[in-house]
Amino acid sequence: MEINDLYRDVILDHNRRPRNFGDLQPADASVEGFNPMCGDHLTLRLRLDADTISDIRFQGEGCAISTASASLMTEAVKGRTRDEALELFDRVHQLLTDDAAPGTEELGKLAALSGVREYPARVKCASLCWHTLASALKSTDLKSVPAVSTE
Ligand code: ZN
Repeated sequence: MEINDLYRDVILDHNRRPRNFGDLQPADASVEGFNPMCGDHLTLRLRLDADTISDIRFQGEGCAISTASASLMTEAVKGRTRDEALELFDRVHQLLTDDAAPGTEELGKLAALSGVREYPARVKCASLCWHTLASALKSTDLKSVPAVSTE
């Protein structure tokens, strides 16, 4: 099986059966993200236990790539600290935009997002949930994180 087929299967699977999809109440932060280029819209809710993301869920509507990316992201960052999650955000951003991005072995399933690089118009679909998460994690006041737009 070719690596690209493998990546496509991961994306399709996470779009069909999104992980961590649904409401989370109560949550320490609730952030909305929009990608007007495609119409993707999501709400991300998370709980922090000290500095660790103890739970995270998302809701909303978007294209297959935005849904799969959010699903993969929630799986990847649950149980990680703020700093670890932000580091992962940097790695994924590089993966989506830089052809010379370093090896993806330790990124696990997130490596599937590298396939999006071949479709520049869809990069914002894949990065929307990550920008939304980063906005929350960088915010000092979790209760009033402003909505994120990719425009
Ligand atoms: Zn999209």
